[in-house]
Amino acid sequence: MAKDLENEARKRAVQRIREAKAGLTSEMKAWSERIQNGDRVALAKGISLIESHRKEDRAPSEALLSSLNVASGKSLKYGFTGVPGVGKSTWIEAAGMALIEKGHRVAVLAVDPSSRRTGGSMLGDKTRMAALSQHPLAYVRPSPTGDTLGGVARATAESVLLCEAAGFDRILIETVGVGQSETEVRRMSDVFVLLMLPGGGDGVQGIKRGILEWADVVLMNKADGPRERIELAKSSLTAYQSALSLLPPPLDGAPPLFGTSSALDEAGVTEWIDRMETRLSDAAESGQLASRRRRQHQDMLHAMLHTEVLLRTQSQPGFSEAWSRLQKEVEHAQTPPFDAIRRLLDGLN
Ligand code: GDP
Repeated sequence: MAKDLENEARKRAVQRIREAKAGLTSEMKAWSERIQNGDRVALAKGISLIESHRKEDRAPSEALLSSLNVASGKSLKYGFTGVPGVGKSTWIEAAGMALIEKGHRVAVLAVDPSSRRTGGSMLGDKTRMAALSQHPLAYVRPSPTGDTLGGVARATAESVLLCEAAGFDRILIETVGVGQSETEVRRMSDVFVLLMLPGGGDGVQGIKRGILEWADVVLMNKADGPRERIELAKSSLTAYQSALSLLPPPLDGAPPLFGTSSALDEAGVTEWIDRMETRLSDAAESGQLASRRRRQHQDMLHAMLHTEVLLRTQSQPGFSEAWSRLQKEVEHAQTPPFDAIRRLLDGLN
């Protein structure tokens, strides 16, 4: 009798799980169809799910991604970086409008790792890209906030997939040129643009050397106003150009392009978009774009492995105590670092 009841309960539980799974899938299916039909509310909800830090949102967000016809790689991705105030959002607004003029649908995503450190957001607080965010052929997504290890990079990469599925064929990703975020954005961009201010040395501008070396396009923005400022923009550009000419050419093929622009006057923005579009279509034809993306996927895989392994190690029971003990031992030279790591990992496994 008890056995029968137990079997019955088990059967019902299995049934409930099946129903829940079926419900989830059909709900996901409907959701992903709405996204693919260009429904912005569905897209925004999808990105919010992806950005969520809650553990229980991970499975549905993966289900949503796998229910979409993604990974097509159809859209072209522009990355923009530069210090706050250099004119990124002004530039992106003008660039987005220029791309729409050319017949594209434009999504803008912002990567803003600053919120945790500053308690506020460098990118999200102001009214930004007013014209573009109102445009029916554009979608402007305010920045994901918070900065869990690797979380912003993952959320942005996945949001790109969602925007691509929603039919946006040009995706502009903006990041503040500090910290780790520009490395991550470079890893997802088909073309990576560094905006700089005339006159400031890279130390002053807080730009890491590596970023300068990685840029596909280096632009001195705010090359407008008094003649001296325009002259200064040109001479700063020449200085950077000659510094960079000493470096080996980038792995991804073509050497960087240099120029000046004024996002405020919209001077140069359309021309630069034209040049970059040409460069991208040449790269697509020659196979350079495909090989760059292959390398990026590899890099992303490695970066994700590092992050995941670290997160999993840190979440093991006893990690914190073992880690602080070993840190002290290493600090006082009682244990060599490699020995500490081996003991840590052996002890936790
Ligand atoms: P972001 O923080 O890099 O996104 O910079 P914003 O686009 O918000 O621009 C910061 C300020 O610089 C704003 O007041 C803009 O109007 C101004 N600005 C942006 N681009 C230019 C430009 O090309 N020339 C001049 N003179 N000002 C600009």
